[in-house]
Amino acid sequence: MSEENLVKVVKFGGSSLASAEQFKKVGAIIKADSSRRYVVDSAPGKRSKEDTKVTDLLYKCYEEAEEGLSFEKTFRVIKTRFNEIIAGLELKLNLDEEFETIYRKFEGKAGSDYAASRGEYLNGRIMAAYLGYEFIDAATVIKFDKEGNFLSEETNEALRARLKDVERAVIPGFYGAQPDGRVKTFSRGGSDVTGSLVARAVKADIYENWTDVSGFLVADPRIVENPKNIEILTYRELRELSYMGASVLHESAIFPVRKEGIPINIRNTNRPEDKGTLIVENTCHTPEYTITGIAGKKGFVSVSIDKDMMNSEIGFCRRALQVFEDNGISIEHMPSGIDTMTVFVDKDAFVDKEQQVLSGLHRVCQPDTIDLESDLALIAVVGRGMKNNSGNAGKIFSALSKKKINIRMIDQGSSELNIIIGVRNKYFDEAIKTIYEVYVNDEA
Ligand code: ADP
Ligand code: ASP
Ligand code: MG
Repeated sequence: MSEENLVKVVKFGGSSLASAEQFKKVGAIIKADSSRRYVVDSAPGKRSKEDTKVTDLLYKCYEEAEEGLSFEKTFRVIKTRFNEIIAGLELKLNLDEEFETIYRKFEGKAGSDYAASRGEYLNGRIMAAYLGYEFIDAATVIKFDKEGNFLSEETNEALRARLKDVERAVIPGFYGAQPDGRVKTFSRGGSDVTGSLVARAVKADIYENWTDVSGFLVADPRIVENPKNIEILTYRELRELSYMGASVLHESAIFPVRKEGIPINIRNTNRPEDKGTLIVENTCHTPEYTITGIAGKKGFVSVSIDKDMMNSEIGFCRRALQVFEDNGISIEHMPSGIDTMTVFVDKDAFVDKEQQVLSGLHRVCQPDTIDLESDLALIAVVGRGMKNNSGNAGKIFSALSKKKINIRMIDQGSSELNIIIGVRNKYFDEAIKTIYEVYVNDEA
């Protein structure tokens, strides 16, 4: 198939659309390839490290409105951000009426989801005018039910029908609407999800996700200096990495494209010549290193339940887990031994329920002891290449112990796709750097 006949969905993140200058780079990228037909935009992000994302300004502004404070000043800052982009692009577009409507809706307390969504909405209006593409309000095609749950199949139908005869369009990311028209957003970073939904609906050949890094990096660049780039990543590896905090792509963005086997290509708006990372269903491409990536999160608590002969007591684990479920706490990880099981939970979700959980466990499990340890971090070392290499856990163990980093837990998933390591929060950065060193620098 020639390039011209392909259909590409392109999503641009906040930093790619933070200013008129960035918009021009985006315009050039889209114009360079006529198959880039459907564009999903984010709200303007940070122009510099100290800057504030428009989405955060909108939340703040709405909070002021809701508390009955004057929100005029914050509103003006937001308006200026958009007007500067319009002026910088020399567009004839005038959004004053839109601002007027939004202002009134803020006064009428239209909800924080509505407020936050206006960043994508207005940026989409500007993008459509700039490119000369049709603008399609996401509220008309991205569907949520009365309770606010996302409706995947209805959305797919609505998008497919709406885009069937539309050659080129801009669709704002991050939000949709409930049956009564009320705007509802995805969780933060959700424009990635919108991009994926559009790609599925039009059966795109590729979903290009344009951001400020040249693809997925082996580790978070804020922790490891100049980490290597990942050329190819599988959907499953991506899930493990993004769930554990590699925040390049929203953790739910994978599901819609996976249904159609559409590859995702993470690209850098500031370096369009770089190939970026390709995320695929499967590949025979052998990774350069044993591991594909490292990611992690801080702020966990481990609850270790000990009882002699636990293993022979039928239903023990189920009863223990039920206590967490009854308290609405989700379980992040659960390594176990013969007479012990440990449950890792998010500290923020756990602290307020701690005593209920402990007494619940005593009641249903009669354990010998329950130990709590807080301020733990979990690190996932992920790679489809680990299956064919023995001694991975040992290698990590010895590297970390050389650095005097105490490992609180190490667990290899049965798929051998990942190894999870628990360390104290304070060793988090150091542990990631060390693992990067043994797997990437030493293998290079
Ligand atoms: P966008 O606004 O384009 O959606 P995000 O800020 O959501 O961009 O995601 C890109 C950022 O993710 C990068 O700037 C980087 O700081 C961060 N990041 C975290 N982990 C990784 C990783 N493993 N590889 C690349 N970037 C990472
Ligand atoms: N603008 C939204 C946010 O900041 C959504 C996104 O960028 O994907 O979370
Ligand atoms: Mg993002």
